[in-house]
Amino acid sequence: MSSVTLQLSEEILDKMKQFYQAEQIKNKNPHACFTAKTAGCTITIYTSKKVLFQGKEAEKESKIWATSGKTTEKRKIELSMQPHGSFFAHIGSDEVGTGDYFGPMTVCATYIDEKAQQALTDFKIQDSKAMTDSYICHIAPKMQKLFPFSLLILPNEKYNHLQKNGYNQGKMKAYLHNQAILHLYKKIHAKKNPPKTIIDQFAKPSTYYQYLADAPYIAKTNVFFETKAENKYLAVACGSILARYAFLQKMKQMNEKWGMDFPKGASHTVDQAATKFIQTHGIENLPLVAKIHFANTEKAKKHLFN
Ligand code: MG
Repeated sequence: MSSVTLQLSEEILDKMKQFYQAEQIKNKNPHACFTAKTAGCTITIYTSKKVLFQGKEAEKESKIWATSGKTTEKRKIELSMQPHGSFFAHIGSDEVGTGDYFGPMTVCATYIDEKAQQALTDFKIQDSKAMTDSYICHIAPKMQKLFPFSLLILPNEKYNHLQKNGYNQGKMKAYLHNQAILHLYKKIHAKKNPPKTIIDQFAKPSTYYQYLADAPYIAKTNVFFETKAENKYLAVACGSILARYAFLQKMKQMNEKWGMDFPKGASHTVDQAATKFIQTHGIENLPLVAKIHFANTEKAKKHLFN
């Protein structure tokens, strides 16, 4: 079991107490003034202002707080992103799971207005790729209560079906983003007069609209594309977090259903897991858990039949 100790300011300690309020547990140690237990870490704040993180997530969890202070300020500025420094309400959309062999593809569009932005201040929001999964699982359920969003999950079976029928990943993404954005317009009654909407750019805008050529409705008014948008727009960053959270939840369900620990990504470990899955559950079930056109499938088969 690993442990990390930090000495933190009163201000950060107050934030931590608020943050872990729901996970607070009793501690009889007279020198401990607050103790909380999350899925992978026990956090104890001592009267000396030292904080002890213990457990397999200790390092990750402590990192959230180790750099608080200045970093929070910097992130706030980056994510208020707004070209002239002042915040404006906007929609942002991002996707997750496109590079992972196992698990679904998820897309989430969120609408962040000034009130939501204020409420999000303490969450240290940034691109989901830069956040630990345990932190995402911790904050996402809380975030979901703060603003309207539309989340779409493309299960593996459907993904493989579309892929066989000529949809590349770009086209699937375009459909999901478009649908998530249209749902959200409906939710916030902004169909006729949509707020500025930013899609984390994965293709040239002309290609994006080509992908959508057969879509019955296309969100186009006030829609913009930007690369690395999750670092510039709060709504895109929030979209990436909620999409990642949905992805992680689905992976957890898959782990339980199939009795294995599906690795993320598309590395050699993933090939090995694919081989194990085929051995245990048969190749006919692989399309239910994986994006079978990835090279991992062939590698797993090779390993199996050699
Ligand atoms: Mg993205």
